[in-house]
Amino acid sequence: MNNITVLKFGGSVLIDDGAVKNAAEIIKKEYEKGKAVIAVVSAQGGMTDALLSEALRLSDKPSKRELDVIMSAGELLSSSKLAIAVGNIGIKSVSLSGFQAGIMTSSANGEARIKDIDTARLKKEISERKVVVAAGFQGVNRHGDMTTLGRGGSDTTAVAIAAALNAEKCVVYSKVDGIYTADPEKVPDARKIKEIDYNNMQELSFLGVKVLNPRAVELARKYSVVLEVRSAFSDADGTVVKEEVSDLEKMLISGVTKKSSIARITVSGLKGTSGEVFSVFGLMSQNNINCDIILQTTEKDGTTDIAFTVSESNADAAAEILKNSGKFDEKDILCDKSVAKVSVVGAGMESHPGVAAAIYEALSEKNINVIMISSSEMRFSVVVKKEDADSAVSAIHKRFY
Ligand code: ASP
Ligand code: MG
Repeated sequence: MNNITVLKFGGSVLIDDGAVKNAAEIIKKEYEKGKAVIAVVSAQGGMTDALLSEALRLSDKPSKRELDVIMSAGELLSSSKLAIAVGNIGIKSVSLSGFQAGIMTSSANGEARIKDIDTARLKKEISERKVVVAAGFQGVNRHGDMTTLGRGGSDTTAVAIAAALNAEKCVVYSKVDGIYTADPEKVPDARKIKEIDYNNMQELSFLGVKVLNPRAVELARKYSVVLEVRSAFSDADGTVVKEEVSDLEKMLISGVTKKSSIARITVSGLKGTSGEVFSVFGLMSQNNINCDIILQTTEKDGTTDIAFTVSESNADAAAEILKNSGKFDEKDILCDKSVAKVSVVGAGMESHPGVAAAIYEALSEKNINVIMISSSEMRFSVVVKKEDADSAVSAIHKRFY
């Protein structure tokens, strides 16, 4: 443990000049406490999408390598802007690209993993009492080529740097002032969570809470990096994510969340042999498509239907692969993007019977149909129509709080 603080600024809190100046003031406050400050930035809000669409204007299928080059420009821009703003209020500051910050990654463009951080440059800059503003989301592979870590990857950069430097803490600044038991913009009764453990947070992030990236939480847990989620625009206490939370904070349910970016694929009319079912999932796995909730049903006529969910971005590819395999009748393959997944997360659920009943009761009162369900020790998920998802979250939240 040392004097280092990592502050991560998301795209929504760097949205314009005023926001960038505000971030610079936050850095100044921390710096003046005598801390060594490393800021990690996302691209300004909307920038990454804008850069992506510029690429797509020139080609339907730009190479992943070039997509990484163009997308990484967003974080270069914001890192330089923030370093300029920090310098302007009298603090020495330097922006560093992922490469300069020593972020070494795997080669998988668009979904690279951080393999190692060469901390020499970071250490040199902070030893000279400079604030470092590092570009999040990017690194270089062993060939020296630019890579990106997948959407929302700046959180991961921040946690990785905090871990590599054994920082005191890693504060993630965003628009919201913490993690809530449901999206506070949609569920007015949602409560802010003071402390949450890595397990629960990882599930919530994975199942739709966008404030923290799930991979960043995974990394934080691995290296015991304490995370704090705060608003850049208020002094309110945020949420602390750590290994163990106090008993007072232990809850049966930590949150209710939704994920809209999913789709349901159905293959019907199968004979139901495991070989046939295997060929469905074999094709998905060969193509690196992750299947989430899986349902197998036997119809009255004895045939079998297989339904499963995939991420919306994989949906068209999944349906195409099944159709092109020649193994199934084209008309038997359906791709339904009108669904969303609503999940209840809580480590306490396992030992409490009646969770399923409570969820169904809440949904039936709102006449919401459940299309698929799945449960594990820590979570219970239902697939519903996208248009029902928000009211499903509210109804379930109300039932539990
Ligand atoms: N700018 C990147 C994105 O929009 C990374 C990040 O914001 O964390 O996904
Ligand atoms: Mg983010």
